[in-house]
Amino acid sequence: MRVLVLGGDGYLGWPTALHLSDRGHDVAVLDNFARRRYDVELGTESLVPIENLATRIEAWQEVSGQRIDAYEGDLLDAGFVYDTVREYRPDAIVHFAEQRSAPYSMIDREHAVHTQHNNVVGNLNLLYAIAEIDPAIHLVKLGTMGEYGTPNIDIEEGWLEVEHNGRRDRMLYPKKPGSFYHLSKVHDSHNIEFACRIWDLRATDLNQGVVYGQQTPQTALDPRLATRFDYDAVFGTVLNRFVVQAVLGQPLSVYGKGGQTRGLLDIRDTVECIRLAVEHPAERGEFRVFNQMTESYSVGQIADIVANTFPGPVQIEHLDNPRVEQAEHYYHVKHTGLVELGLQPHLLTDTLIESMFDLVGANKQRVDEKRLLPGVRWRGAVES
Ligand code: NAD
Repeated sequence: MRVLVLGGDGYLGWPTALHLSDRGHDVAVLDNFARRRYDVELGTESLVPIENLATRIEAWQEVSGQRIDAYEGDLLDAGFVYDTVREYRPDAIVHFAEQRSAPYSMIDREHAVHTQHNNVVGNLNLLYAIAEIDPAIHLVKLGTMGEYGTPNIDIEEGWLEVEHNGRRDRMLYPKKPGSFYHLSKVHDSHNIEFACRIWDLRATDLNQGVVYGQQTPQTALDPRLATRFDYDAVFGTVLNRFVVQAVLGQPLSVYGKGGQTRGLLDIRDTVECIRLAVEHPAERGEFRVFNQMTESYSVGQIADIVANTFPGPVQIEHLDNPRVEQAEHYYHVKHTGLVELGLQPHLLTDTLIESMFDLVGANKQRVDEKRLLPGVRWRGAVES
């Protein structure tokens, strides 16, 4: 199949492009390098050195003999989006290309507006391009488990059977997200469902959990193929951040009591979930939703796992929670759709965490310790 990966220079987009190329698909990546600019803005960088996109693509061709095409541009530029879809004529478009940090979206008004404008308008430009150029293209869109929030009932895969006053209907599962970033994903989901219902498009919305890990079989083939590894309080995901703190001998910073429970998955499962979704497209008119996670843990449990696996002493400290979220709550998620398509999850094991300790150990001189502690408060912008 011909697959266009939007956000193909990012943490997950790049390894996904390699995985699809390795499996024999024709792959092109598109990116505007916004993520590299957020690094400059925040004064941070990936813990593992990463090459520029041209060098990555050259290295992949050298190692695998496969070509990956590249498009540099912004999804906010509708003309560029139309031209790319017209020229490449993909069978599937995998859409990772959004501002993806909740704390970044909560810095202040400007960052909230940037996040929602970038994400919602970029996605809308894409929906129009697909509808006008080739409505048979399958859109595989990255959403987040954070769209649901933490309701006091089971979380279904996107849809809920509702009985109300004696009548029944199948409704989009109600959303209670926790940041302006997560809200942007909810808005995207609604826009995509509408486009499937009204224009007969086909889409898979992947509500992904928090990803951990940094290597896939393809990125491990050559250091020039490495993907980024964020450890800072704005872009670093929780397990990756705790591993860095353990290696540096710093206490693991658990926000609040640590009872917040989240869905997680290994980066190797992310790339495989995308392949499965691409190779088993949704039907025309179908808005298909999968919950893309393999396990759930509370933040406190994740800290304990890291502390118990690290071969030295590790302290855990509880900070005032900068976010506004439920400290303890019910969390039960259905996530069978991708397993039914063939996903064989890599569950969190000691071996994986040990390999992350080695990776971080080898790069620890690159850590900027100031970046580890949270600076963005959910109520900060309106209190100050
Ligand atoms: P990332 O920031 O590393 O990658 C996103 C890429 O998209 C970047 O390379 C960025 O430059 C590009 N981009 C952003 N806006 C763009 C635009 N307007 N035009 C063109 N390119 C643009 O993020 P990631 O961690 O790889 O996440 C990818 C997707 O998966 C995101 O949509 C994110 O919301 C979702 N997701 C990630 C996680 C996680 O744990 N990393 C969890 C759940 C969902």
